[in-house]
Amino acid sequence: DFVSTAITMKGTTEAPSSRSSEIQAFMKQSMQEVRRSLPIFPYREDLLAAIHEHQILVIEGETGSGKTTQIPQYLLEDGYTKGGMKIGCTQPRRVAAMSVAARVAEEMSVKLGNEVGYSIRFEDCTSERTVLKYMTDGMLLREFLTEPDLASYSVIIIDEAHERTLHTDILFGLIKDIARFRSDLKVLVASATLDTERFSCFFDDAPVFRIPGRRFPVDIYYTKNKIYCYKEQVLIMHPSSCCTFVLQEEIEACCELLQERCRRLGSKIAELLVLPIYANLPSDMQAKIFNPTPPGARKVVVATNIAETSLTIDGIIYVIDPGFCKQKSYNARTGMESLIVTPCSRASANQRAGRAGRVAAGKCFRLYTAWAFKHEMEETTVPEIQRTNLGNVVLLLKSLGINDLIHFDFMDPPPHETLVLALEQLYALGALNHLGELTKLGRRMAELPVDPMLSKMILASEQYKCSEEVLTIAAMLSVNNSIFYRPKDKVVHADNARMNFVVPGGDHLVLLNVYTQWVESGYSTQWCYENFIQFRSMRRARDVRDQLEGLMDRIEVEVVSSQGDNIPIRKAVTAGYFYHTARLSKGGYKTVKHQQTVYVHPNSSLFEEQPRWLIYHELVFTTKEFMRQVIEIESGWLLEVAPHYYKSKELEDSSSKKMPRKQGKTKEELG
Ligand code: ADP
Ligand code: MG
Repeated sequence: DFVSTAITMKGTTEAPSSRSSEIQAFMKQSMQEVRRSLPIFPYREDLLAAIHEHQILVIEGETGSGKTTQIPQYLLEDGYTKGGMKIGCTQPRRVAAMSVAARVAEEMSVKLGNEVGYSIRFEDCTSERTVLKYMTDGMLLREFLTEPDLASYSVIIIDEAHERTLHTDILFGLIKDIARFRSDLKVLVASATLDTERFSCFFDDAPVFRIPGRRFPVDIYYTKNKIYCYKEQVLIMHPSSCCTFVLQEEIEACCELLQERCRRLGSKIAELLVLPIYANLPSDMQAKIFNPTPPGARKVVVATNIAETSLTIDGIIYVIDPGFCKQKSYNARTGMESLIVTPCSRASANQRAGRAGRVAAGKCFRLYTAWAFKHEMEETTVPEIQRTNLGNVVLLLKSLGINDLIHFDFMDPPPHETLVLALEQLYALGALNHLGELTKLGRRMAELPVDPMLSKMILASEQYKCSEEVLTIAAMLSVNNSIFYRPKDKVVHADNARMNFVVPGGDHLVLLNVYTQWVESGYSTQWCYENFIQFRSMRRARDVRDQLEGLMDRIEVEVVSSQGDNIPIRKAVTAGYFYHTARLSKGGYKTVKHQQTVYVHPNSSLFEEQPRWLIYHELVFTTKEFMRQVIEIESGWLLEVAPHYYKSKELEDSSSKKMPRKQGKTKEELG
């Protein structure tokens, strides 16, 4: 019985088990010993020989076998960086790129950013000397704009290929293409033990190099019945567990509750370190999960699916898997993208379980039934390319001179309507002409490393003479939803502090106000603390803003201020986001083109006000379709900024007076 197992586990872990001494021994090895003890090490010579022999090689190995940290070092030791040539290694996740680069720099005893560096959006930690470059897949994609044949690279490693992110999938096509005329370029496609035949097949039957895993058995437990509140279960289970997968927004609460329970148990249990890991966690905090656990203590890592395959955390023997993940989903008919919490795939669940068996035999507790595993979960995750908006990628490919997208070499093609919609949207934004060719505006839009709508908003700020403000808004939007801090024990204070920033017009202007006041405070940490603002997010917003401002020269936009007038600012937002217009109607809002019902998010400054016309930054589906970050507009502006998209008839108001409030619910009712 699942539950009784949990209880006996609780009992047994109070004294350090023999298993944990095995782990302690593992942790004591020196770094070079660890390198030599990795599963990949015995295959070093064979691997180098295979790379020498074949231009394209698929490499398959269990998570933690040493693919990401070791292969680039082997290649460097083997002379692949002679003459200043670089070895590039892509990662789907920013955190992984940073953390792995830091680890490799440490193993090589060099300063991060010198020989070993990383490059992620809005953060370049490389230099002239960098020869091992870890980067997000999106960054390598952008490098094609400046170096279409990747001439400065001798090897490209597309790592975590099984993740099948949109950018990785596009890289497959582009790299396969350049490999044809760059016979000196080595291409390695590295993946966890999943789907490698497909990669081989796509790359013209490239050989697969398998690194035999060193995996200890993992016992899998299911629940007997369906669990409705898995969070509570995670907590009940936790006293003896080591890694659990939850959604990012749940991590903080989960950690707090765990710590609270440990405090209550006091000296009755051994010390328990509770460590979160997720994409936006600052790097000093991230580093903590890799520190060895002090003798006698235990460690719980509360992770998003980042710990599934991207990061190897040593010493995990228990995994708790609630079985969910957050997935982007895209409706190609309406063009609406939303984030939805869904059951993860069986492949993901198996990767998660695998984390328990790396250094000793482990156990995985699945907080769902065996039946659900079999019948309610998909075999594998649908590749991102088939469930996302392609605007960004289409604009990039067009800028690379790839016009015929229908015949692009996709491993799995996107749905036809998604591609067509992306072209239509770029046309409406003015990035493409009626022949589907890139316009001058489109070329400038592609220079900015942001989504087309955001890019257009920034470019439109030139015309409306408010680029100063719009740059700030763009930066604040891109650190998304992590500006305001709302600790559980100070909810009232935090909400009051937040209210103080409210200005008429909408959330974008509130964000602008927060940033402006922070600048006036001299970028003060204390100010952030007093106002329940997250300093780290603000610092990041400043970095993003600096970078965007640095690009203004290239796209020839002068940085000027609208001097307190917010109409130009709202018009610039409209020029970028006119697709996201919603009109007040019975019971909520309806999107203008597709009549889909959507709601103002309870955290919005316009939640009470309910203006007639709104533009939203993004939609999130939780209990219903919520618009996050909304701004009030006038319908007439839509005709001004997108005359080829909106007809005046569509924008007629059915009545001239303000509608009564239809969303009668209070914030509390909405949770
Ligand atoms: P793979 O890519 O095959 O999953 P990695 O190269 O990421 O494997 O990891 C190999 C080993 O390197 C891990 O077992 C771990 O011991 C060590 N390692 C990786 N990243 C870090 C890090 N940031 N800090 C400490 N150790 C790390
Ligand atoms: Mg790896």
